[in-house]
Amino acid sequence: MTPPSAMSPSAILPSAILTVDLDALAANYRTIAAETPGAAMAPVVKADGYGLGAVPVARKLWSEGARHFFVARLDEGERLRAGLGADRPATIYVLDGLTPGAGPRLAAAGLTPVLSSLPQVSEAAAFARSLRSPLPVALHIDTGMNRQGVTLDEARALAQSLDRLEGLDLGLVMSHLAAAADPQDPHNALQLERFGAARALFPPSRFPKAQASLAASAGIFLGANYAFDVVRPGVSLYGGGPRERPDPRLKPVARLTAPLIDIRTVRAGERLGYGASLVLTRTTRIGLAPAGYADGVIRAAGGHGFAFVAAARRPLLIVNMDLVAVDLADADARVGDPVELLGDNVPLDDLAAAAGTVAHEVLVRLGRRGERVYLGEV
Ligand SMILES: *Cc1c(COP(=O)(O)O)cnc(C)c1O
Repeated sequence: MTPPSAMSPSAILPSAILTVDLDALAANYRTIAAETPGAAMAPVVKADGYGLGAVPVARKLWSEGARHFFVARLDEGERLRAGLGADRPATIYVLDGLTPGAGPRLAAAGLTPVLSSLPQVSEAAAFARSLRSPLPVALHIDTGMNRQGVTLDEARALAQSLDRLEGLDLGLVMSHLAAAADPQDPHNALQLERFGAARALFPPSRFPKAQASLAASAGIFLGANYAFDVVRPGVSLYGGGPRERPDPRLKPVARLTAPLIDIRTVRAGERLGYGASLVLTRTTRIGLAPAGYADGVIRAAGGHGFAFVAAARRPLLIVNMDLVAVDLADADARVGDPVELLGDNVPLDDLAAAAGTVAHEVLVRLGRRGERVYLGEV
């Protein structure tokens, strides 16, 4: 029988195919919205939409009602602005904030910097003086991650000396949770309390536009008191569980498959691949597929993860640059059969755990080589 992929270019040049299911993305958006009914959603589409394509992802989520997005870098914001076009005038926040000299480009693309240090606040205020209209900004306050954000004391000083904020139009006060993947960690309640205090420094009476945002994916699922006005989901939109394990409420969005290009029998005692790290303890059949770490499959998953081939999970033996090897044993598999490395049968969080990492890293590595195919209307 001819496999259905015979008509696609991959049948001529076998390669890995990354499928992005935009309808599953939309379903996850609605699931998260139902979790936080009072809050607006600002999807995080940094790193090219976690490797899945920031523009198609944001366009799809715009059609679901999203009007605010987060990126990390200035150039990501510029590309997103261009990709959304004039008929989708979203608010685009740039987490890097206002780096020296970036003001004109931020303003030209209509991007909102997330200011995360006092020098950034000064830089923004200086730039705002050169503009005729106020510069929209967000303020990142550190409540216990100790990574980005002004301290609570610095925030208090800013709120009290309004001249330092002159020309700045503060639309969002935000912070980021360090331990939300573990609901039992007392650090969550501590950060929640500190954020409540931080938020109170910018009351509506003096900062009428300032909204509050604390929760990313994991925080959203901690409970309604973490939602505030705006939530910032990233990985859970793309199918990653908020507890770093598969969550049945979220659908897989990314699927990575590659065809079996060779099946060979390797005898007990023989080595497999480079070096002597893998010596087979029994004679078995090895299936090879053209997807390797150059295609974003994390090398460390070899020996720990699994792939789905011929209707069952099979051990993922090695991940090389261009190839994976799977233990087919006595599976009824043939050359041309699809090897699923990520998808409905190989959950994102399981692959991440096998590779000793988080779902975020698994996703952002995908899609650099090979085809990316979108399912669903944008
Ligand atoms: C990346 C990021 C997010 C999204 O995090 P997820 O865990 O992917 O939901 C939200 N807020 C900030 C500040 C981030 O850096």
